Amino acid sequence: MTDTVLILGDQLSFNLSSLAGRDPANTQIIMAEVGDEASYVPHHPKKIALIFAAMRHFAKALRELGYVVHYFEYGQAQDLLSACQQVAPLNTIHVTEPGEYRLRALFDQAGLQLHADTRFVCSHQAFRDWASGRKQLRMELFYRIMRKQTGLLMDNGEPIGGKWNFDADNRKAYKGEATSGPLRHTPNADTQAVIALVRSEFATHFGSLEDFWFAVTHEQAEASLAHFIEHHLPQFGDYQDAMRQDDDFLFHSALSQYINIGLLDPLSVCKQVEAANQAGKVPLNAAEGFIRQIIGWREFVRGIYWLNPKAYIAMNGLEAERSLPAFFWDERKTQMNCLRQAVRITREQATAHHILRLMVIGNFSLLAGLNPQAVSRWYLSVYADAFEWVEAPNVIGMVLHADGGYLGSKPYCASGQYINKQGDYCKHCRYSVKESTGEKACPFNALYWHFLQRHREQFAGNPRMALVYKAWDRMADTKQQALLAWGDHLLANIEQL
Ligand SMILES: Cc1cc2nc3c(=O)[nH]c(=O)nc-3n(C[C@H](O)[C@H](O)[C@H](O)COP(=O)(O)OP(=O)(O)OC[C@H]3O[C@@H](n4cnc5c(N)ncnc54)[C@H](O)[C@@H]3O)c2cc1C
Ligand code: SF4
Repeated sequence: MTDTVLILGDQLSFNLSSLAGRDPANTQIIMAEVGDEASYVPHHPKKIALIFAAMRHFAKALRELGYVVHYFEYGQAQDLLSACQQVAPLNTIHVTEPGEYRLRALFDQAGLQLHADTRFVCSHQAFRDWASGRKQLRMELFYRIMRKQTGLLMDNGEPIGGKWNFDADNRKAYKGEATSGPLRHTPNADTQAVIALVRSEFATHFGSLEDFWFAVTHEQAEASLAHFIEHHLPQFGDYQDAMRQDDDFLFHSALSQYINIGLLDPLSVCKQVEAANQAGKVPLNAAEGFIRQIIGWREFVRGIYWLNPKAYIAMNGLEAERSLPAFFWDERKTQMNCLRQAVRITREQATAHHILRLMVIGNFSLLAGLNPQAVSRWYLSVYADAFEWVEAPNVIGMVLHADGGYLGSKPYCASGQYINKQGDYCKHCRYSVKESTGEKACPFNALYWHFLQRHREQFAGNPRMALVYKAWDRMADTKQQALLAWGDHLLANIEQL
């Protein structure tokens, strides 16, 4: 009796639940590069190239293990179910649950046999139990449970170093030399073929295919991890929130795209980071900060997404309706240097570190009242690590506060002062971060106050926002009026910023 397993493009893991306990000699596998998945949003060409190239390498590795792999190259099947139907009856096919509810609903309806995705620490049910009855969810409390459950950085039930979280030590601006960045891999002939295919089929999508350096095999991804641990992790903690004009990555790992498609196992990544700390190679604030991102934030946002994905992605709690300005697709159309750099990095790399996503592009989207669904579609399209389970809560919840504060206790809004404090973009900008109104003034400044006043009713009662509202109330009336009028002007002329 032959078992049939469908493996999706973000499920390239040997320890996949749908493969567990199966004999390769009696298992056939379906993998398909389908048009529907590659273009339901206009994915960045580097993201499509990464996924197709990694799929082809994984199929090869599975064949070497003895599996029969039915591989549909791009153009041979339009959608996943039609590929499956060419191999076996749908209700006999096993698949690990997909990361997007839209596909999950499709598979449920078609009768495929779904298996829980065991590559995560927290199951859907465990998260649901934890979240049940809570009006707001706080990552910090959830993270402590994950630490206890995994035993990472724990000693006899207590956090190593006596604290759960060293975030207060992680906000330094970086003044040293530019870093060497992530490990770059030279594409082999198979990957070159995929790049050529993507170049001809997805030419209209936003994003550059030049200089493709992503890992496409498990071995390469492990080498990227080892490179990060040796060269960048020791300073990851200190400079987690830093930004710099001449350095697109700083001390970030650039590993999320590998973790999210299965080339790296998240728990194994954390264990290697813990081991580096135990060996004295990496300080505790760096190891804890990094592990928190993975077993804390990554697990937390996934749990939130799956509580009610269909409703969550449609949320617009602040009733934000403005369309994306054209410069989200072409950085040359804005003079705001921080945004210009963040969009450039995104276009060139199909990735951007957290502070660029959160405090530059995200902060602007929040302050300018951009529509959450339009912003979400943009993030889902342009980042190689973007899959709805992780992208949507970060955008709808963390950045745009469109979920009514379910994910975050306060919006991450900031004026240009924050961006100036954390990096040197302002030094290279045509706007002056010190000014708040007038043609030279940094647009983030007036937009910040305009946002706070537009939403005073929602936020003024939040104790964590009390100080900023006090600062506003102490301002002279004329200054307040000038800020609001300038904010109106900026929003009316958003395409010219
Ligand atoms: C608006 C917005 C959208 C985002 N969209 C995505 C997305 O589509 N896919 C995605 O993987 N991450 C997303 N993130 C989270 C985070 O920005 C990226 O994981 C990170 O920038 C990837 O770069 P890195 O690997 O260098 O991360 P590092 O800074 O090195 O962090 C280490 C790892 O922690 C995990 N991580 C860190 N923060 C988060 C987070 N908030 N949520 C989930 N995982 C996290 C990632 O796996 C990452 O590789 C988003 C964040 C924001 C603010
Ligand atoms: S001055 Fe304002 S727009 Fe220019 S880089 Fe600084 S924060 Fe960005």
